Amino acid sequence: MIPPSFDYARPTGLDEALRVLADGGEEAKVLAGGQSLLPLLRLRLAFPELVVDIGRVPGLRGVREDGGTLVIGAMTTHHEVVRDPLVRRHAGLLAAATRTVADPAVRHRGTLGGSLVHADPAADLPAAVLAMDGELVVAHPAGRRTVPAREFFVNYLETVLAPDELLVEVRVPKTDGWGFHYEKFHTVAQSYAIVGVAALVRRDNGRIAEARVGLSNMGATPLRATAAERALAGCDDASAVARAAQSAPDGTQPPQDTSGSPEYRAHLAQVLTRRAVLTAAGMG
Ligand SMILES: Cc1cc2nc3c(=O)[nH]c(=O)nc-3n(C[C@H](O)[C@H](O)[C@H](O)COP(=O)(O)OP(=O)(O)OC[C@H]3O[C@@H](n4cnc5c(N)ncnc54)[C@H](O)[C@@H]3O)c2cc1C
Repeated sequence: MIPPSFDYARPTGLDEALRVLADGGEEAKVLAGGQSLLPLLRLRLAFPELVVDIGRVPGLRGVREDGGTLVIGAMTTHHEVVRDPLVRRHAGLLAAATRTVADPAVRHRGTLGGSLVHADPAADLPAAVLAMDGELVVAHPAGRRTVPAREFFVNYLETVLAPDELLVEVRVPKTDGWGFHYEKFHTVAQSYAIVGVAALVRRDNGRIAEARVGLSNMGATPLRATAAERALAGCDDASAVARAAQSAPDGTQPPQDTSGSPEYRAHLAQVLTRRAVLTAAGMG
């Protein structure tokens, strides 16, 4: 399919990008790696009058340390995230989840920022960043604001971003000493999760001291399995973890689609949470 016609801008600086976006208002759309936006345009599900390509805006790509936090530029590609030594050392869950995204071609073009702003609840990275208690740094014409991942996703394909705002950085606390695992269930290789579970576990004296569980595709937004997280604290063997994982679907509203019913997804959330937590905790 051929996309509808639109104006195209390719700013070479952040201030210019923000100005162009502000001028475009509701009719402007940011283009990052294009792996989600271009299919929407080609299917004629989006009709922006202006596409603002941020591929030449400097400073939006790469990974750096800031004390106990990793700062990842919004335009860092999935391929770069997976290969980055800092991400692998200090944010293993993000590397593990990113490794499961699509295929190498998509991972070479698609970006972490694009995946988060696209806000598809079936995507892998929103649940991982949510489990990591990440923060999103957003630039706008008057400055910057930092939004916790927990507040960023508001509905299906919808975030708190205003039309004149640009996601510039993703900040994730280092998870040194935590076990991690991303468990993705899909029936077609290299496709979206029917359900995905991102788990982080900190153990103390053989017990789970703290567990964080992010869920993909269990509602209109990525979610934290808060009831399961509470139940997992103190678990010291596999059967206790299995019991705690039963509450993974509590408070979720899984979708009904051709891949499965809400009941099927609720069952998957329980099974995958048990597997992900046991692996993350080294109890598997
Ligand atoms: C065949 C295929 C399979 C896929 N499989 C998976 C999968 O298994 N798991 C998965 O998680 N994802 C999957 N994806 C999606 C992929 O991860 C995309 O890379 C990602 O969703 C979007 O990243 P992008 O950089 O391409 O963003 P774009 O497509 O360029 O943009 C996506 C949206 O975000 C906005 N945007 C982008 N960057 C910014 C920014 N910095 N500030 C403000 N707004 C911004 C755009 O305006 C647009 O609305 C798949 C995609 C394809 C084509």
